[in-house]
Order: sequence, then C-alpha cells, then structure tokens
Amino acid sequence: MARATVSVATRRRTRQIRVGSVAVGGDAPVSVQSMTTTKTADVEGTLRQIYALAAAGADIVRCTCNEREAAEGLARIVPRSPVPIVADVHFHVEMALAALDAGVHGLRLNPGNLRKPEEIRLVAREAKDRGVPIRIGVNSGSLHPELYERFGGATPEALVESARMELSYFQEVGFEDVKISVKASNVPLMIQAYRLASETFDHPLHLGVTEAGPPPAGLVKATAGIATLLAEGIGDTIRYSLTADPVEEARAGRQLLESLGLRERRGLDLVACPSCGRAEIDVIRVAKEAQAALEGRGIPLQVAVMGCVVNGPGEAREADLGIAAGRHRGHLFIRGKIVRVVPEDQMVEALVAEADRIVAEGIDARLASADASAEREAAEDRKALFEQKGADANDSEKVVMRIRKHLDRAQEGGDGPGARA
Ligand code: SF4
Repeated sequence: MARATVSVATRRRTRQIRVGSVAVGGDAPVSVQSMTTTKTADVEGTLRQIYALAAAGADIVRCTCNEREAAEGLARIVPRSPVPIVADVHFHVEMALAALDAGVHGLRLNPGNLRKPEEIRLVAREAKDRGVPIRIGVNSGSLHPELYERFGGATPEALVESARMELSYFQEVGFEDVKISVKASNVPLMIQAYRLASETFDHPLHLGVTEAGPPPAGLVKATAGIATLLAEGIGDTIRYSLTADPVEEARAGRQLLESLGLRERRGLDLVACPSCGRAEIDVIRVAKEAQAALEGRGIPLQVAVMGCVVNGPGEAREADLGIAAGRHRGHLFIRGKIVRVVPEDQMVEALVAEADRIVAEGIDARLASADASAEREAAEDRKALFEQKGADANDSEKVVMRIRKHLDRAQEGGDGPGARA
C-alpha cells in the first residue's frame, strides 16, 4: 500500500567528499558519526565499540589519535573496521601525519590548537596525496585566542572566520577535500554559526552541539540544534556529543534522521498514545514491554500501542502495525485495519509475531490474511465501550460545568476567591 511522503526541506547543495566508502555532501544521504571512548591503543576494545556503534547506526566512527600508541592502534583497527575511521587530532601535527600513515579514511583537525600555517599546509599536502579528506573542526570552547579577541568572544562570525582561515591554508596547496564544523555548546550560537557557515562555504557541513551533556537534557540540546538546521536543509553529516555510552549517540543520530525522513527506517519506531480516561490498559507498561520485545530484532516498522479501541486504530492508522486495548482484548491492526482480536494478556506476544510475519511476508500479504471476524468483533467492542464511557471519557464537560458555575457565582457575589465557598 503506497503512502505519500513529505520531505522536511530541500537540502542545500554542497560539494561531495568521500570518507572511505561513505559519501558526504552533494546528494549523499545525511550520515551519522560517533566517537569511541576507549583508548585507541586498546585495539580489541576499540573495535568492539566500533562494531557496536555501526550496529546502532553510525556510518563513520572517529577515534582519538593523541599519542604514538594510538597511531599504532589505528594501523591495526582501520583494516578490521566495518565503517570508515576518522582520526581526531589536537595540538600535534606529527599525530596527524602518523594517522595518515595508519591508513585512516579522514582526519579531524582543530584550528584552535593546531595553529602553525606551515604545519597545516604540510598535513593538507599529505592528505591530498593520499586522497584523505579533512574536517576543519572549529569549537567555540577552543577558539583561536586571536579570533576571540578580535570578535569579542566566540561569536558565529569568529567561528566561521576560524574555519575560513584554516581553509585558506588548505587552498594554498590546492586541497579542497574538506568538511567543516563550527560547534558550540550554546544552541542558538551553534545554529547561527552553521547558518553563516552554509552561506560562506559550499563544503559539506558536519553538525553537532558540542558537550551537550548527559541525556535526557543532552539529547534535547543536541536535537534542538541539529534538527533545526536539518529542517532548513543545512547539514551533511551529524554527531550527537553526549556524556553517555557512544552507542546512544549513534542511535540518537540515526533515529533523528529517520524521524525527519532523511534516512530509510531500518529499526523499530514505537509510538504510543499518551493515555487518557478511555485507556483500557496501563499504556506505559505495555508500551515498555513492546519496546523491549521488539527492539534489537531489526524490524523496520512503525508500531503503535494504543490505550483504547475507540480511538486507537484510527489515531494510529499511519503506523504499519499496532494494537489497541478494549474489553480485556487486544485489537491488532495493520495500517488502521483490524486484522485480529487476541486476549489482553497476549497483546505483546501477538504484536511481535505479527511484526515478524510482516517482515517475512509484506504488509499487503498480511492484510489479505486478516481474520474475517476481526472487524466485526472490534466494532462490537468499540460500540460497547462508547456506550459505557460515553463521548466524554475524561469527564471534561463536568469540569467545564464546574468552572462555569464558579465563575458565574464569582460574578454575582463579587470577584474574591471566597465566592467559591
Ligand atoms: S482516546 Fe484511547 S488512544 Fe487516545 S489517548 Fe485515550 S486511551 Fe489513548
């Protein structure tokens, strides 16, 4: 069954670069990045984390290259990694050169602490010879002191100027294989800096709110910055910088892109109603059970858990699959059509079994094999519940009447709260 698609924005066209096998910019899908938290010298530990990040949705993974052992670790990690590896370099030009020797697919340089033009040109020349792209990774917290002084702080203009200066050194040696980030932990500053960067450069932009902190606040901050820009068509690759297991970063990045329709759904999207006076089950508990049972099965479906059959199947008709509760039964529906009615204690089990069958057989085949009596049984449950709870299951009208009564009395007898007595 075909469904209309809506796109969030026309993406601003940038030049395209390649980080190993992953294209960034141009018409390439927005990619997800994350960074390992292990010591890069710990090859097996780092590879385990890289595999976990790739499974959670990371297209590109960055590892620090801060010491000789890290560079040696990269040489062993790169050939065994399932995704391209970018080396993160601060302060030490020799670490950038060693990372290139190790065969990394990309470099990240911080112009705030790698400042000598001749060293920057040297790295750019080496990267150019090897066809390795570089990210100019400006960060508000480590802005070049001269720029801080000149612009009176870490302003959007100062962050963009830092990237422009670094880019000019690259251009002197004919190197344009570059992506740019102008990160800040302050979300409005980050948004303004990227808007300015997108007007200034045609190079791909790597979006991120730096040091966003632990979830849930960190997730909200990062999403506020990244999603705002993506919705304006700005951004070619993203990273959530969370104080958490980096797997959460990769998962969040992937989920954001899927929810904005910028990447194909490859995992579960569980939606659930907020519950109300009509709910026939504990929606929070059942939604959690469904999430736990379905997560990790690689099911690329939107699955709905709805508290009642009166409104549930209709409100969630866009979901691929869902279940709604009513009169101790679960009404299983596919794209809004009731296909089966099961006992309440088998709701989650039925949801999982149907999700597996949809993945194996397809939506249309599962719709075709709907129980003949399901729609009729569902209609009976809906009717019975409607008669039992009426149109106003949340008793809103009673509350409205009470408010009116209090206000009428207050107007008749003066405006003080004593009028309620
Ligand atoms: S009306 Fe039903 S589906 Fe909608 S919020 Fe209430 S319980 Fe959930």
